[in-house]
Amino acid sequence: MKILFVASECAPFIKTGGLADVVGTLPKYLAQAGEDVRVILPKYDVMRREYKEMMTHVVHFYLDLGWRRQYCGVEMIEQDGVTYYFIDNEYYFARGNVYGSGEFEGERFAFFCRAVLSVLPLIGFRPDVLHLNDWQTGMIPVMLCTQYQGNEFFRGIKTVYTIHNLRYQGVFAWPFVRDLLSLDEGLFTDDKLEYYGCANFMKAGIVYSDVITTVSPTYAKEITTAYYGERLDGLLKARSNSTVGILNGIDVGVYDPEECPVIPAHFTAEDLSGKAECKAALQRELGLEERADLPLIIMITRLTEQKGIDLVQRVIEGIMNTGAQMAVLGSGEKSYQDFLCWAAWRYKGRFATRIEHNENLSMRMYAGGDILLMPSRFEPCGLAQMIAMRYGTIPIVRETGGLKDSVHPYNQYTDEGTGFSFANYNAHEMLYTIERAVGYFRGDKEMWQRLRARAMKEDFSWNVSAKRYQEVYENVLQKP
Ligand code: ADP
Repeated sequence: MKILFVASECAPFIKTGGLADVVGTLPKYLAQAGEDVRVILPKYDVMRREYKEMMTHVVHFYLDLGWRRQYCGVEMIEQDGVTYYFIDNEYYFARGNVYGSGEFEGERFAFFCRAVLSVLPLIGFRPDVLHLNDWQTGMIPVMLCTQYQGNEFFRGIKTVYTIHNLRYQGVFAWPFVRDLLSLDEGLFTDDKLEYYGCANFMKAGIVYSDVITTVSPTYAKEITTAYYGERLDGLLKARSNSTVGILNGIDVGVYDPEECPVIPAHFTAEDLSGKAECKAALQRELGLEERADLPLIIMITRLTEQKGIDLVQRVIEGIMNTGAQMAVLGSGEKSYQDFLCWAAWRYKGRFATRIEHNENLSMRMYAGGDILLMPSRFEPCGLAQMIAMRYGTIPIVRETGGLKDSVHPYNQYTDEGTGFSFANYNAHEMLYTIERAVGYFRGDKEMWQRLRARAMKEDFSWNVSAKRYQEVYENVLQKP
């Protein structure tokens, strides 16, 4: 099968969150399984120089976008059996950051959608399946269905649309989007692109794709309800027969406590002495008291409403009263940043805050932490809890989306499980769960060792999920 992944980010080239991990890993697994897999993404100026220097020029041309005529270059890198294409336009993608805000976001990704379809004949690649990801790619199936069917090259290309996070939908004024992409006025109805008076890229992707997937089975169910559905639950319920939930994996080659080049010591489930060294080094690095006996709770996260920082804020006194240390790495909304900086001042030596995006530090934290706290309000899949488990750091999660599907709560009667969880979005329920975990950490070392070993032995590789995606492609290709 020929598969083209279309996304706004892809590790290791450019990453702001879990989407990049998925698009950076799944294609490699599919390529190993013998598929012809390629990936296409924007060429951002903020990519690392070494990657920009590796690129070779494929083609360039001028593309019509409403009344605009824009340069569109295509660059290429081949790596691990996968071909990566980068759409080059400095006006849209050399802005000093990956995402911006306001109407211009709509124009940037409308350009990207148009560019993807326009370059296919020029690079001589006709995919059987276009695998689209999140709102930035949502207009591709609309254009494919309404503007490209007269062209033999495009006829019969199937679309799979993956929702990584329903919260971000790409909602812009209809006249603006219609003009950018020369869309038919008839598309602006509530069963197509219209969403509370505006045009919605995410909705477009959901309506017009052949199959919808989302990144965990639980999230696939949740988004058909009003609480999680972000005002698209009715549509998602209507399309639930064409929706599949497939749990993400992680790149177990990159996240590997035995090999990881950026952590100070290595360890395995059988020999955890290296983890103790990682913890001591992390405590020194973050200015925490160097204490092996205190559990170190870490959070590595975007600081947004989704991630449950407000629960931590509500019961911070209670959390610190358990005797645990805390370290948070993240960036995002100012109110959360302010709270975390305040906590680092208030609990000096016991609470550390780093406001930045720092992948190497995140690895040292996964390796050196004891507990990862992830009390998300909603979580389509979540990768941090899987990475943490791989490094023997025990997750405490709220039972939602992929957190529910990947963390088995500890059962004291059967001595089973890989972490701790709580059901309701409630600060005291979270605090109780933290107290329980800290109690085990301090009171029952052997139980904690067993818990750790089980968590580390969980299989979070892409092996299983990549096969599920292959089945999805095979099924969609059989559709008329
Ligand atoms: P989301 O995609 O909602 O941000 P996930 O848990 O699916 O959440 O993925 C987050 C990914 O981004 C993980 O690989 C995590 O380690 C990484 N990450 C999040 N914040 C930071 C940060 N400040 N520095 C480094 N890595 C981060």
